[in-house]
Amino acid sequence: MIKPVAHVEAMGAYALADLGGANTISLAQNESAFAASPAAVAAGQAAIDQIPLYPDPEWSQLRTEIVNIHKLEPQMILCGAGSMELIGCLIRAYAGLGDHVLGTDYGYAFVASASAQVQAKYIKAHEINLTVSVDDILAAVDIQTRIVFLCNPGNPTGTVIPNSEILRLRHELPKDVLLVVDQAYAEFSDLTHDPADIFALVGRGDTVVVRTFSKAYGLAGTRVGWGYFPPDVANQVRKLLNPNNISIPSQAMATAAIRDQTHMRDVVTKTAKIRDQFASQCRDLGLIVPTSQTNFVLLRFASPEQAQQADKALRANNLLMRGMGGYALPDCLRATICESDIMDRALTVLKGILT
Ligand SMILES: *Cc1c(COP(=O)(O)O)cnc(C)c1O
Repeated sequence: MIKPVAHVEAMGAYALADLGGANTISLAQNESAFAASPAAVAAGQAAIDQIPLYPDPEWSQLRTEIVNIHKLEPQMILCGAGSMELIGCLIRAYAGLGDHVLGTDYGYAFVASASAQVQAKYIKAHEINLTVSVDDILAAVDIQTRIVFLCNPGNPTGTVIPNSEILRLRHELPKDVLLVVDQAYAEFSDLTHDPADIFALVGRGDTVVVRTFSKAYGLAGTRVGWGYFPPDVANQVRKLLNPNNISIPSQAMATAAIRDQTHMRDVVTKTAKIRDQFASQCRDLGLIVPTSQTNFVLLRFASPEQAQQADKALRANNLLMRGMGGYALPDCLRATICESDIMDRALTVLKGILT
């Protein structure tokens, strides 16, 4: 019999969302409810002719656009096949057997999986009221901690901590602990939380910021993420990235998408409006819904049984939210914000079981 290495054999498969049947509408993966920029779609179509060639390993045009929009240093930007690739490579570069990777109660599940791949131990600091607590992160740091992952805005909670708290966290963490700020949903909170505060931390040499085109830009299918890295960290992570990691059409689409800030902001505004209305209607039904600055909301039911009942009723109506048992929140469902007619349908189903 062919035996895998022991720690891989012991790992579970990564738990992706259940996507239901052919007629199911997914509110389960936080994909954008709205189409990507038409300019991005056109750029992807135009780039198809170039597919016999390997893509640009330096993501030159994409990096140039990211630099223009966010006023950053090009040599400190790396692009990944989704930000998942960057997160995986960071963990491989900075944690190994027996090291501790520190996240939070409701931090991004992929970090736990990527830590297991390198035999590092993933530890969760407590969150308070479904919100990251910097004090609890600091209290959970120990001598074996190599990396701290902070997801802000949080997934699956949707909650945000102020930039001042992230600065305090960085200031109080040991200097040899890498802080990774996962800002997959930052475009939804950038207007109220100046992104420049967080990018500026990267200049210290011990902090990384990761972003993605999968959410606000509506390009989850292209698999493009990017990060801002201290030069030395970038050099290490670069060794682990798959060379030629992002296809030519994907690079072209992400480049055009970030150039079209008007479209992205419009999507963010429309999404936020539907989200806030849906959240308030759900609160009227008695659910607990933390204030979200993302493209999803977390719905907290009276009990795990009630959440299960809601899940069943939604499925019977071809609507699928994400169960939260994996995050030890069995009384919750996470709902990606879709167009308002779909949210209305979901609300009608919830009303049916809650009133
Ligand atoms: C969606 C998401 C990502 C992005 O993943 P990609 O690989 O870029 O699609 C990263 N972190 C969190 C918390 C997310 O929810």
